[in-house]
Amino acid sequence: MTSIKKFTIFGNPVEHSKSPLMHNAGFKFINFDAVYTKTLLEDGTQIKKVFLENNFSGANITVPHKEIAYQKADKVIGMANKIKAINTYINNNGTIEAYNTDGVGFLRAINEFKDIQKVLILGAGGTTRAISVAFLENGIVPTIVNRSKNKLDFFENLGCKTAHWDNFCVDSFDLIINATSAGLNDTNYPISQDILKQLFQQSKYAVDCIYGKITPFLSLAQQYNLTYKDGKDMLLYQGIVAFELFTKIKATNKLIDIMKNALDTN
Ligand code: NDP
Repeated sequence: MTSIKKFTIFGNPVEHSKSPLMHNAGFKFINFDAVYTKTLLEDGTQIKKVFLENNFSGANITVPHKEIAYQKADKVIGMANKIKAINTYINNNGTIEAYNTDGVGFLRAINEFKDIQKVLILGAGGTTRAISVAFLENGIVPTIVNRSKNKLDFFENLGCKTAHWDNFCVDSFDLIINATSAGLNDTNYPISQDILKQLFQQSKYAVDCIYGKITPFLSLAQQYNLTYKDGKDMLLYQGIVAFELFTKIKATNKLIDIMKNALDTN
């Protein structure tokens, strides 16, 4: 007898998460006998215990637990070893295998952008780590610019080019990414508006990892006629890659549409 498989997303807060909508729609479409819930986890150090005690087959992990989840995993797979943070757990007969699908999800989200050689990422947090490693693995060395200096060592050690606000020299880039939280709950630009204007004058594409709104960063990109997108496709594709790990089924275009619709209509 087979029982229904259980999946969840761990976060704090987690109420806002759209991952259950997306995954449950996908499970239903492929007749996969599973349910995906939200789990509010206050103490990240308990993640392994809670995951195993509840007999989850897999999970996603969101803010603020991605780094502790990396430390608690039994086996870290692929890019997550370099990112040192994870967003997906798989239960392999009681052994926790951990993956990071954010970076590869980002690359799938910008698949239609052509001739990307030079990439600038604003911000130096967990999202920048995932995106940088994905670019490096694909032969592109990104430039990371952050407001403050102290997070840049990680990226220098990876082999990225780095700068902070005080020593950054404007250059031309094909793609500019906002991976800061500037614009999320405020009207800030991720770097001075003047510098951003100089950058956008010489650029083709802009992506904001923030989703569901036109941030000041995207609004300026629009004024400079760049091709741009917010973080919704990144959210979708990190979920698609996790879904493929959960179900061991390659997502078809139809399935991707179903999961995208679940995000769009709710
Ligand atoms: P972190 O908290 O790890 O890092 C935040 C970064 O933003 C830091 O480098 C910080 O600089 C910088 N920053 C914060 N405020 C400002 C500001 N006003 N001006 C300039 N820089 C600023 O965040 P994450 O990496 O986890 O997330 C980054 C963004 O990506 C968030 O907006 C999040 O919502 C989004 N995101 C989207 C996802 C998606 O699927 N679309 C997935 C994950 C995240 P400093 O070091 O100087 O403090």
